[in-house]
Amino acid sequence: MSAEIETSRLQQLDHAHFMHPFTDHNDLGAKGTRIIERADGVYIEDTAGQKILDGMAGLWCVNVGYGRKSIADAVYEQMQTLPFYNSFFQCTHPPAVELAHELATLAPEGMNHVFFTGSGSESNDTVLRMVRHYWALKGQPEKQVMITRENAYHGSTVAAASLGGMKPMHRQGGLPIPGIEHIAQPYWFGEGGALSADELGLKAAQALEARIQAVGPDKVAAFMAEPVQGAGGVIIPPASYWPEVKRILAQYDILLVVDEVICGFGRTGEWFGCQYYDLTPDLMPIAKGMTSGYLPMGGVIVADKVAEVLAAGGEFFHGYTYSGHPVAAAAALENLRILKEEKIPEYVRDVAAPYLAQAWLTLADHPLVGEARSLGLMGALELVRHRETRERFAESLKVGERCRDYAVEAGLVMRAVGDTMIIAPPLVITTEQIDELVTKARQALDMTWEALSSER
Ligand SMILES: *Cc1c(COP(=O)(O)O)cnc(C)c1O
Repeated sequence: MSAEIETSRLQQLDHAHFMHPFTDHNDLGAKGTRIIERADGVYIEDTAGQKILDGMAGLWCVNVGYGRKSIADAVYEQMQTLPFYNSFFQCTHPPAVELAHELATLAPEGMNHVFFTGSGSESNDTVLRMVRHYWALKGQPEKQVMITRENAYHGSTVAAASLGGMKPMHRQGGLPIPGIEHIAQPYWFGEGGALSADELGLKAAQALEARIQAVGPDKVAAFMAEPVQGAGGVIIPPASYWPEVKRILAQYDILLVVDEVICGFGRTGEWFGCQYYDLTPDLMPIAKGMTSGYLPMGGVIVADKVAEVLAAGGEFFHGYTYSGHPVAAAAALENLRILKEEKIPEYVRDVAAPYLAQAWLTLADHPLVGEARSLGLMGALELVRHRETRERFAESLKVGERCRDYAVEAGLVMRAVGDTMIIAPPLVITTEQIDELVTKARQALDMTWEALSSER
């Protein structure tokens, strides 16, 4: 009883005071929040005692799973030794130095420099300023334009949301800021029409070349993209896409920014998504899996060729109080040690991802599912009214949201992006737990199907 009273007390206070990110508060007030109290491994538990398989790894970040005591210990120890010091004004501290070195070791060859931030959004704000400053130092200050993609997610600050391609975000607050161009995304299921996947991939890549020419190659600073779009709906580009983008980039003197905030740290089965697609980035924003979410931290891994120009250019007037925060760095170091020692990226590549791919694809036979796809430990289901024509349900039916709520009822966190259901579980998920995830996803589909049928 007292647990129920406590839950409703917290729900009331939550409604009264807590402004949640990306949340419709009218909706939230009506439904009440679910209060997550604890977690272990791949499971979270709410105040009602329901254990739920976390198919979203928190928010794409708890790569090593919940309940890692060694990260807690590393953090506790660092808190006692040095809870904070800045890294401005010719100072540094051991955890940030060790972490920068470790990241340089893990990153692709020729990327040996790291700028620390507090989040993925801050990383992308840093990217924008760094890229423009780089070209100014190179004597080409007119190279200012960043090309990114529609429906990309690069974060929520002014620069990051502008770099992102989400129209509802742009509509609030007068975004995007000037100097950012958005091109088509390589989303075959959603936008491919009559084209084959590879034709759509080529077409989306060639939109980059067309835009470079329209803007003027001497004005374009960089192209920026996620290897696989995460928040946009786990959009896996057709095989033709990245090779064609590489061909185009090789022809023009512009930088490549690969947003590794989701794809980094093992999600694709490689350490970084750029390695999965054999890309050579000049800058890589990172966050999320960098600490497995145990503490907030982000960064930008910078190629030597860019870092050298910046270093020669005098002071870069940019930095955050918490850049390289010692306690967050200690959490990141222990997280990286776990990823390495337990060979988690290799486990994803050799065991978990192939297993998920075959198990997840079995959902493609469900009458609601127009496509099931996965890459690494990311998956998506496209919910449709008609499988052959890919016709969607009316938006007002909120089919995706309802399917998400049924999934939680069935004991699975699965997220809805419109009517695209997505998953990205902790990388330590076992094959038995993958079976459980897929079984629960099917239950959610069945419950959704049932509800829709009774409404016809
Ligand atoms: C989450 C995300 C970000 C923003 O990171 P925050 O830590 O939420 O600021 C940036 N890029 C991608 C690809 C992301 O998924």
